[in-house]
Amino acid sequence: MQFKDVLADAALKQKLIDLARAGRAAHAQFFLAQPGSHALALAVAYGQYLCCENPAETDSCGECPSCKQFAKLSHPDLHLYFPNCTTKSVKKDPDSVQLAPEFKEYVLKNDFHVDIHGWLSVLDGENKQATINTRDCSDILHHNNLRSHQDGYKVYILWCVDRLYHLAAPKLLKTLEEPESKSVFILISEEPDKILNTILSRTQLVKIPRLTDVEIAGKLQQSYPDITPDEASDIAVLADGDYNKAIHIVTDNEDQVLMLQQFEIIFDSVMAFARKQNLNAVGYDVVQEVFSEVAKQGREYQKQFIQLMLRMLRNILMQNSNNPAMLKVTHREQSVIDKYRGVLHLKQISAMTEICNQAVYHISRNGNSALIFTDLYFQLVKSFS
Ligand SMILES: [Zn+2]
Repeated sequence: MQFKDVLADAALKQKLIDLARAGRAAHAQFFLAQPGSHALALAVAYGQYLCCENPAETDSCGECPSCKQFAKLSHPDLHLYFPNCTTKSVKKDPDSVQLAPEFKEYVLKNDFHVDIHGWLSVLDGENKQATINTRDCSDILHHNNLRSHQDGYKVYILWCVDRLYHLAAPKLLKTLEEPESKSVFILISEEPDKILNTILSRTQLVKIPRLTDVEIAGKLQQSYPDITPDEASDIAVLADGDYNKAIHIVTDNEDQVLMLQQFEIIFDSVMAFARKQNLNAVGYDVVQEVFSEVAKQGREYQKQFIQLMLRMLRNILMQNSNNPAMLKVTHREQSVIDKYRGVLHLKQISAMTEICNQAVYHISRNGNSALIFTDLYFQLVKSFS
């Protein structure tokens, strides 16, 4: 992993490089990460830079044997520790060493865009307590007492260090305080509140800033060439600084587009109905088709669909009150909002919000979805009277 491929603030990357070049790399650093940031990539890029045979002013060379080993996470002086638990393959006394092949595969396959939930589902350990455990700490101490393989730095990365088992943590204190001269520890977490102060106080804090919408949009376009610039910036807005979330949105995007179309069909009809009072003239047959599609999709989709209606109503209300700065909407949503904003006013929007909330409640109580949506439609019409 080279710095150029890390999705992170450019100034922060350069600062780490400058410290490394000046020989002032802190022995123990705490990377305080935001959800969806590229923190593990940053830590590995940093380790790769320290071990590179021909580092340049702005990045590791990417070509030397050391860089090539780092690219595969297989450098003998790169030690990775991460939450682990028993699995189908490791039935007893699990540790990071035994699960390293699975972890490396997970990280490389996802281009370092990883999080604890994704990793737990690889481990199939969602319901188990995955920790960085006593065996992991013993392994760290063991390596710390040995010379590095290539006479350079030894890099220890503890990912999701908030899951360091509290009884194991004291084993590390002395090492963090007085590490061997060419050892570098990088502790990564999004949840500093769960980390012992005795650990934090022995590390230098590196705050990884939240990703900007522009950074996320740029990366999306690089990784998903089919996405247009407008779509990429839309998704970035919704992802709210979390690139993992952006990836989920890309994957779920088709659903969102469909839901917005369905919202428009229903609301066009509701408003035409409110004006004309004639079912044939308001496309009620198309509305019924929408309802049967929605009913077929299952409860999770139905709930998400109504959540989208609620979000749209709230956004229309906000724009009516001339406070667009408070909104986070996509280009597509904006055009739908513009269509309704002059027509829907506070009284209807609050009534409609109540109606949608009721529908969510009935769906979660496993009510008949065809009935729930038909009722929703006529209640929405009624809210105009
Ligand atoms: Zn190199």
